[in-house]
Amino acid sequence: AGDLMKGKRGIVMGVANQNSIAWGIARQLAAQGADIAFTYQGENLERRVRPLVESIGMDFMIPADVTDDASMDAAFDAVKDKWGKIDFLVHSIAFAGKDELQGSMVANTTREGFRRAMDISVFSFIDTARRASEIMPDGGAMICMTYLGAERTVPSYNVMGVAKAALEAATRYAARDLGPQGIRVNAISAGAMRTLSLAGIRGGKSLMGTGRDWSLLKEDTRMEGVAGAALYLLSELGHSVAGEVHHVDAGFHVVGVPDLPEE
Ligand code: NAD
Repeated sequence: AGDLMKGKRGIVMGVANQNSIAWGIARQLAAQGADIAFTYQGENLERRVRPLVESIGMDFMIPADVTDDASMDAAFDAVKDKWGKIDFLVHSIAFAGKDELQGSMVANTTREGFRRAMDISVFSFIDTARRASEIMPDGGAMICMTYLGAERTVPSYNVMGVAKAALEAATRYAARDLGPQGIRVNAISAGAMRTLSLAGIRGGKSLMGTGRDWSLLKEDTRMEGVAGAALYLLSELGHSVAGEVHHVDAGFHVVGVPDLPEE
């Protein structure tokens, strides 16, 4: 525990269960004194999310489906009514259909699937950045979550890789637009981690294995690392950092060729 986020208030979007990256980040921010408003996808998830939020002594929870403007309006109104302003935002939300997250990207990406992936995984960040910036009169910081599949091809990741490439570009443009207002916008590119979302990807377990075996550290990406990076980017430690895609993946992203077999 510490006080790097003492006196700071913000929104964490995307806790679904105890394995969610958003939850790992929220716990770290709370341990450093942050006050957090949690948004979750809908009534169905409340049962899972409430005990987690209560376990860290908090209770500000708001349903928010990012595809529904009325629900987003209501969520941000609720935060504005209670706090007036915020200091940080964590966007940890993405979605693509199971049919798209397998096999050939070319063969399996439908117009509707593309729209849905881009809407939930990219537009939602742009929309959220706008809404959050309107309640950040004193500046602040925002992060979103991305993956190496934006930069390089990864089997099964397919349309989500295309969406993450757009999300990383959106991070840079948002950082440019909001920089003059003293708002820093960055992305964390995490290595594969065992969450609900990973389970939706065909071969997700093997993606984790490869991530570990090819990584420089020869280990899985750990939640502490991702949460620590979030704390850095959202606190004063991250001063002067904007428009960045920061990799937390045990060094996987710099590997071009894995270790050679013994000759
Ligand atoms: P997760 O399933 O725990 O979190 C995804 C969240 O998105 C869930 O809380 C879900 O409710 C939310 N969501 C989906 N559609 C929504 C909608 N319409 N409205 C509101 N919320 C919606 O999985 P996670 O792995 O923690 O994913 C969080 C983020 O991290 C995602 O952006 C994901 O792409 C990214 N990421 C994950 C990994 C990994 O290996 N798990 C690696 C790098 C990046």
